[in-house]
Amino acid sequence: MDRRDFVRLTALGLLAGPAARPAPPPAAAPRFPIKHWAWLRGDVQNLDAWKRTLSDLRQTGITAVLVSGSADFYRTHVPSARDEGMEVHAWLFTMMRGEHVKTHPEWYAVNRKGVSTADKPPYVDYYRFMCPSRDEVRARLREVVRDLAAIEGLASVHLDYIRYPDVILPIALWPKYGIVQDKEYPEYDYCYCQVCREAFKRQSGFDPADMPDPPAQAAWRQFRYDAITGVVSLLADEVRGAKKLLTAAVFPTPTIAKALVRQDWTRWKVDALLPMVYHGFYKEDVPWIARATREGVAALGGRTPLYSGLYVPDLPPADLAEAARQALAGGAQGVSVFHGNLLTAEHRTALRSVLRSATAGSGR
Ligand SMILES: [Zn+2]
Repeated sequence: MDRRDFVRLTALGLLAGPAARPAPPPAAAPRFPIKHWAWLRGDVQNLDAWKRTLSDLRQTGITAVLVSGSADFYRTHVPSARDEGMEVHAWLFTMMRGEHVKTHPEWYAVNRKGVSTADKPPYVDYYRFMCPSRDEVRARLREVVRDLAAIEGLASVHLDYIRYPDVILPIALWPKYGIVQDKEYPEYDYCYCQVCREAFKRQSGFDPADMPDPPAQAAWRQFRYDAITGVVSLLADEVRGAKKLLTAAVFPTPTIAKALVRQDWTRWKVDALLPMVYHGFYKEDVPWIARATREGVAALGGRTPLYSGLYVPDLPPADLAEAARQALAGGAQGVSVFHGNLLTAEHRTALRSVLRSATAGSGR
């Protein structure tokens, strides 16, 4: 797929670029703390290795880590992070959870061909997304989040995969799966389970499965944005009841997030948004990071702080520093690197000067 085709998709409105809305945030926008983050993967169990990793990140100017683990993991690792001056956020895979496939296959999202992710997930075998409309799914997620929010010292519950499966994948991934997604194809379009169909019918009078061209129906798209937004609101209430914060990893711009995964994230009740501004996934260059960031910041209008996610495998050290500069120029309150364990000493040196000057410039 070359760039011309991508431009054509953009013209179709499927992937409208962020460049059209360069408005800066209003001058009266509340200021949020400048902060830099890292998602962490790999070996984080060993306490000595954990402390070394955090110490390296701290010296780079990163003071918040997003990490998945059991309750026991957090209980042992959060105090040592605090000693290091680091916040720990519980990184949660939200809708994509395969653990109930055997016991509750009916909880899983069904595509426009009638196939459930419980039986045949799209793209990869772990893409087992649950249906956001089901009461049982919502109740289960509330339980998971309540347990995390009860853990002492965690700074936030961080929602990832808080969305539908990609109805359209980021363009750079198309060749990997041998597909061209120039429109919404039925095998990637979710959810047409009985609960969703009946709920939409009650609301609109139509069964989405009977509509001649479901992707053309704005109300049906809106129903699905609202289903995800509704899950976020429920989980926000749960987290706030425990006096914790809620943060989320989202697709790079409001436009792309709605078009690809039905996230309407500018309407979410969260305390911070970390859009994954992974330029390489969209065949974009590093300066796109500023444009994409600016679209999100402008759309949020100062209501929620935004921290731009940067994809380290596509960024040699000098490019990583430039990417951070672009994110800050676009109005981000900081950056989040994916992922922290991939940073080399050269990456950390290059990043440190940018992050340190951003923090100094904010007067914090
Ligand atoms: Zn459903």
